[in-house]
Amino acid sequence: MIRALAPLVLSLLVLGAGPASASPGGSVPDRILSPVVVAEHLAVDPVYVHPDRHLDGDRSTILSEARAVELSERLTRELPHVYVAVTPWQNAPRSMATALVNRAETEGTYLVVGSGPTVVSARSDGARTPGPSSDTVRMALAVVNERPDMARASLDDRLDLVLDLLGDERAAAREYERLASGSEQGRTVSLVVVLVAALPLVVLVLWALRRRALRPVRVVPLSEAVVDTVESAAREELRRDLVRDLPSYGRRVAGFEGPRSRAARALAAYEAAGRVLDTAEDVSDLVGVRVLLDHCEAALTAGPTPRHCFFDPRHQGVKAPVRLRVPASPRATTVPACPDCRRDVRAHVPPKAVLDSLRDRPTPYYAVPAEESAWAATGYGTLAPDLVERVLSGGARG
Ligand SMILES: [Zn+2]
Repeated sequence: MIRALAPLVLSLLVLGAGPASASPGGSVPDRILSPVVVAEHLAVDPVYVHPDRHLDGDRSTILSEARAVELSERLTRELPHVYVAVTPWQNAPRSMATALVNRAETEGTYLVVGSGPTVVSARSDGARTPGPSSDTVRMALAVVNERPDMARASLDDRLDLVLDLLGDERAAAREYERLASGSEQGRTVSLVVVLVAALPLVVLVLWALRRRALRPVRVVPLSEAVVDTVESAAREELRRDLVRDLPSYGRRVAGFEGPRSRAARALAAYEAAGRVLDTAEDVSDLVGVRVLLDHCEAALTAGPTPRHCFFDPRHQGVKAPVRLRVPASPRATTVPACPDCRRDVRAHVPPKAVLDSLRDRPTPYYAVPAEESAWAATGYGTLAPDLVERVLSGGARG
């Protein structure tokens, strides 16, 4: 079946993929790999593997031709409505997956691997899509993308696990439960790690107190390892919540029957959220996903535009404008803020803002240059109404 690739590669080369190469690994830039081409291939063979992905690269991104054939036979035999595409698509495999489903001839579940290790999926619309249920797909993908031992697994192993779980709903539920309870244990362990890490600190402080009468005490800063542990646990919890919630928005967008303009707004916000979640590296990105889902929710329910706190969209309470001085400048601006942040601003205390940890040191997200962050450029949408468009056109990171 994989032989069907030969004419495909030929047609891509004809399309102008650069110097013609006789080997099947002739490099084909991903911009010309259209979802249409992949959909046409999947109509005859349930596994599409881009020629580059048979060749060099580490084990997490390649799939041998022999394995592709085996996978294809397995799908035909055991999971006839599941399709797999291993592509070079960067950044937005989820929106490409949606495009693929829209162009596919048959209904089913389409698993797509982009340039990274994450496996994403898109399903045909409609409650009667054949094959595994959307819940099973969601749980299987959460396990393969989130389970710690899978982070270093080969693409082979990752796809095998997904197919095992798609074929067995109970196993998918069991593994998903285990993943969730594992993260509980992870949190307990994190706490222990924090306490153990903090022990020398406590000893130091006690020692310092005893010496206080003799010499001035230097303030001992909190160990960075302690802070890191707490922050990464919080980040992973946030990510897990979003991975859990995103598919339900997708289903609601797909089944939405209201006015076309609202449907388009909801779809755009959902697409933007999915795209950012695929590449989120940092809490500031994950908070952005939540904001985009709030915009999706507003479009679906005809609710008002979400009003978030400028400093951290997760803050609760009634938002009201507060004047903010631009440091070292006579200029000031007005931003919406929650009661706590307004109190801080009035007391000249920096409010607790979302931190961008991708800089040299954690920085309030709004201090990142606007051209490098859609969040900073729009204050998570509180300062400019075009957050969704910016993310879709240029990505969250400019
Ligand atoms: Zn606030």
